[in-house]
Amino acid sequence: LGSDVDVGPGADYDPDEEENLLGGLKIETTQDIQVPDRLVDQVIGQDHARDIILKAAKQRRHVMMIGSPGTGKSMLAKAMSQLLPREELQDILVYHNPDDGNEPKVRTVPAGKGEQIVEAHKEEARKRNQMRSFLMWIIIAVVFGYSLLIAGQLLLGILAAGVIYLAFRYSSRGSDAMIPNLLVNNAGRQTAPFEDATGAHAGALLGDVRHDPFQSGGMETPSHDRVEAGAIHKANKGVLFVDEINTLDIRSQQKLMTAIQEGKFSITGQSERSSGAMVQTEPVPTDFIMVAAGNLDAMENMHPALRSRIKGYGYEVYMDDTIDDTPEMRRKYARFIAQEVEKDGRLPHFSAQAVEEVILEAQRRSGRKGHLTLELRNLGGLVRVAGDIARAEDAPETTREHVLQAKRRSRSIEQQLADDYIERRKDYELNVNEGEVVGRVNGLAVMGEDSGIVMPVMAEVTPSQGPGEVIATGKLQEIAMEAVQNVSAIIKKFSDEDISQRDIHIQFVQSYEGVEGDSASVTVATAVISALEDVPVEQNIAMTGSLSVRGDVLPVGGVTHKIEAAAKAGLDKVIIPAANEQDVMIEDEFKDQIEIIPVTHISEVLEVALAGEPEKDSLVDRLKNITGSALERKVGR
Ligand code: ADP
Repeated sequence: LGSDVDVGPGADYDPDEEENLLGGLKIETTQDIQVPDRLVDQVIGQDHARDIILKAAKQRRHVMMIGSPGTGKSMLAKAMSQLLPREELQDILVYHNPDDGNEPKVRTVPAGKGEQIVEAHKEEARKRNQMRSFLMWIIIAVVFGYSLLIAGQLLLGILAAGVIYLAFRYSSRGSDAMIPNLLVNNAGRQTAPFEDATGAHAGALLGDVRHDPFQSGGMETPSHDRVEAGAIHKANKGVLFVDEINTLDIRSQQKLMTAIQEGKFSITGQSERSSGAMVQTEPVPTDFIMVAAGNLDAMENMHPALRSRIKGYGYEVYMDDTIDDTPEMRRKYARFIAQEVEKDGRLPHFSAQAVEEVILEAQRRSGRKGHLTLELRNLGGLVRVAGDIARAEDAPETTREHVLQAKRRSRSIEQQLADDYIERRKDYELNVNEGEVVGRVNGLAVMGEDSGIVMPVMAEVTPSQGPGEVIATGKLQEIAMEAVQNVSAIIKKFSDEDISQRDIHIQFVQSYEGVEGDSASVTVATAVISALEDVPVEQNIAMTGSLSVRGDVLPVGGVTHKIEAAAKAGLDKVIIPAANEQDVMIEDEFKDQIEIIPVTHISEVLEVALAGEPEKDSLVDRLKNITGSALERKVGR
């Protein structure tokens, strides 16, 4: 063991050229990169989790890993199983119990011995049967001969022979019952077991005893032969991995806890009405290391006692989503591609330029400047699609062009939906991307995780019968109310209009289910102010941003995707929170299409977005005045 293992890139590199995309790596294709043997050395990033795994393997401790999907949780759990000593592996045998057929006996022997024992029992049974049938035929011959020759009764002879035959057959069943059931066989295993029990039903997790349709009359299968091991038993002396631990039903979590606590767990039939439920074995060893995984919600829904058990006897670790973009990391990402190519086995290796393109994508997907994404399952998906395209063309290597094609092809469902949606809106001319309109603003939202969409917001202000209300259509009522509440403080200060006497209607035009509207408050505020003051909004502009009660524009998620969506919709400018400026990683093709305007305050938003000079100027001036000196500093005038 030891954590000071070499996890270098496995190829030459030039320290003078470290700053390039390959981190100075000197390769023609990924074939030049050596992939480490041990899985634990193949893990990219996640240094903290890696160290914990190494430590926990040495000390035999349980581990809880929390983090986004595809960041290497199951990979690390599997790596851990490779670090556990092989010498301790055991085979587990279940024997018939002559005293109580419903409580089979359980024995453990060193790995590899189990097969030998079963073989020996089979051999013995065969000999015994041979012996018995030999005996049987002699007796039959004697009795039959006696009946026929001495008593002269053929019928009696046949009858007697038949009775003897059946008696022997019936009593010989017992000898099969002597052959043990090899429940867990570790013969020939190179590493400690790794059992993935994610989403396993009770039987698969805890073991089961099969139902026997013939429960008597000589046709039944002896109970010990119907016993089946669960993942907790197969994982004995190895690793039991359970992802999405919170989705395991509470009863199973409780039993899992017992197995961890006792180090053994009897097997019984899981379905209550089956004959298997009558059977309960002696305790079967379950001496495994538990690696539980999940996202943050998992911890909330997890059985608290199970969590405290893991915590008390092990480690908890949070998985990173991104990592600092350093030359060393970029070299490792190149090695990651080599790993994925070798793991797949059929993909052509990647050219240096293709590797660069994947690394660019890793930068982009991180959503943060100076970082690389660690959601490597998805990045691995891109590698495979690119490699498949190259393979389909019989190309000797995967090139940059293949990667670019793959990026286009491997769009997520949300991206495909959003693109389709944009296309359709173009058809119906629902997009307004020029001119000026009162109370209408092109907002931006994120769909799924990785696609943006233009979502127009319309506001209308009408006199109210009673106290003023905020009326919004669709599912976005809450977002609208919050946004209006946030702007109302600002509006109260600068406007003569008393909005408490008005109804404010807000419509999210053509909003799609599943759109997250978090960052719509700047948009809603602009639409409301425009409607209230009757000043039109430029329609070639889109915007996103969250709003504080004081009018500060706060950062939001998904800016890159949103900007790309605005560009695709044919808009000229996009307003984003200045705090998000560093997160912008739009693809080159969009850079010339759209102007990005970072802002820190709502007054700047209005200055850019409102049309109609005199009204606008007085509005912006008033807004600047009322928000005081703290604001002056921020806006910088
Ligand atoms: P999780 O269990 O977190 O959902 P997995 O461990 O199943 O993710 O990751 C899926 C695949 O993605 C792995 O088999 C591996 O190819 C790749 N992968 C994910 N994370 C990493 C990592 N940190 N280093 C190297 N490869 C990774």
